Amino acid sequence: MSTESASAVFRDTFAAEPEGVWSAPGRVNLIGEHTDYNGGLCLPIGLPQRTFAAVRRRDDGMLRMVSAQGGDVVEVALDDVGPGRPEGWAAYVAGVPWALRRAGHEVSGLDVAVDGRVPLGAGLSSSAALECAVAAAASDLFGLGLLADAAGRTALAAACVEAENTVAQAPTGGMDQSAAMLAEPGHALLLDCRDHHTEQVPFDLAEAGLALLVVDTRAEHALVDGQYAERRDSCEQAARELGVPTLREVAVGDLDDALGRLSSDLLRRRTRHVVTEIDRVVQAREALRHDDFERLGALFLLSHASMRDDIEISVDELDTVVETAVAAGALGARMTGGGFGGSAIALVRADAVDATTERVEAAFADKGFRAPQAFAVTASGAAARDH
Ligand code: ADP
Ligand code: MG
Repeated sequence: MSTESASAVFRDTFAAEPEGVWSAPGRVNLIGEHTDYNGGLCLPIGLPQRTFAAVRRRDDGMLRMVSAQGGDVVEVALDDVGPGRPEGWAAYVAGVPWALRRAGHEVSGLDVAVDGRVPLGAGLSSSAALECAVAAAASDLFGLGLLADAAGRTALAAACVEAENTVAQAPTGGMDQSAAMLAEPGHALLLDCRDHHTEQVPFDLAEAGLALLVVDTRAEHALVDGQYAERRDSCEQAARELGVPTLREVAVGDLDDALGRLSSDLLRRRTRHVVTEIDRVVQAREALRHDDFERLGALFLLSHASMRDDIEISVDELDTVVETAVAAGALGARMTGGGFGGSAIALVRADAVDATTERVEAAFADKGFRAPQAFAVTASGAAARDH
C-alpha cells in the first residue's frame, strides 16, 4: 500500500509518526485539449493512480520535504518560499502552503514525505496530484475545512495552480488541479474554464463492456515549454484580433467568419482547433448522456486529427498509438494532455485490452521507439484523507 510506503518514508526520514496520510489522483482528459487557457471546456477523469503524502505539522515555520521519487531531503523556511524558490520537485510541495497563506489562511511549517504512483512527466498530471495531496493535508491539519464541499475544493485547486504557476514556474491552465480536487468515481468532470462551473457526467465503461486504455509513450521531447507558450500566445493574439476576451467567445457557427478575419494561416489553424475542440466537448457530454460510445470514439478521432494538424501538438509516437489502436478495433483514440509526448487514450472493448496493448507495443518496437507503458483505467475519486 502506498499509504504505508509514504508513512515508512516519513518515519525513516523524520524519525517520527506522521499525523496522517492524504492522497490525490492523476488525471486523463477524455477530450478538450488546449481549451482551459482559452476559457473553454474539458472533460477529465481522476485516475486510480494516486500520489500519497504523509504529513506532520511543525511549529518553527520550516518545510522539510522528501519523496520516494525525489533525491535528498529539501528544507526551506515557509517565509523563504517564492517564485522559483525552492527549485525542482519541492516547489510543487512548498508552493502549496505558500499559496494558501497568500490566500489568507493560517498555515505553518510541515514535514512531508511523498510517494507518487502517477507516472512522472507522462502527461497524467503527477504535478497536480502532488500539489493536491499536500493541499488536502494542509486543509485538514490547519483546520481550513476546505475538503468539505465543492467551493472549498475549488479554492484548494486554485492554491495549487498558484503554486505551480508561481513557485514551480510551470504554466498550467487549471484543468489538472480541478480534476484532482473534484473528480468522482464513475464520472468524468465537465469543467467550464470560463466561470469554473463543473458538472459530473456519468462515465461507466465497464457497464458497456468497454475499457479506457492509457498508453504512456515515454517519448521525450525538447523545447516543450516554448511550444506550450507559443500555443497560448497564438490563441491570445487570435482573440485580440477578433476583439474577444478569449476564443471561448467564438461560437462554432461563427467559425468561418472568424477565420476570415484572422491575419495568418497559423492563427486560423490554432483558432479552428480551439473552437471545434470546445464544441467536441459539448458533443462528448451528449454522447455520454446517451451511452453513445461509438460517437464518443468518433469524437476522439476528430479531436486527435485537430491536435495533429491544427494546433500541432502531436508527435509520431502519439500518432502511432492512435493509428494502431484503431487498426486493432478501438472505437476511437486520441493523444491526451499538453502534447509533444506524454500519453494517448484508446476506447476499446474490454476483451481487447491485451490484444490492443500488444499491437501498440509491436508497432513501437517496429519503429524503434522506447517501449510504451499501457494500462486500463477507471474513473476514480478526488483528493482525500487515507489514514
Ligand atoms: P506531469 O504533471 O504530466 O506528470 P509535470 O512536468 O507537470 O508532468 O510534473 C512532473 C514533475 O512534478 C516532476 O518532474 C517532479 O518535479 C514533480 N513530481 C511529481 N510527482 C512527484 C513525486 N512523487 N515526487 C517528486 N516529484 C514529483
Ligand atoms: Mg503537470
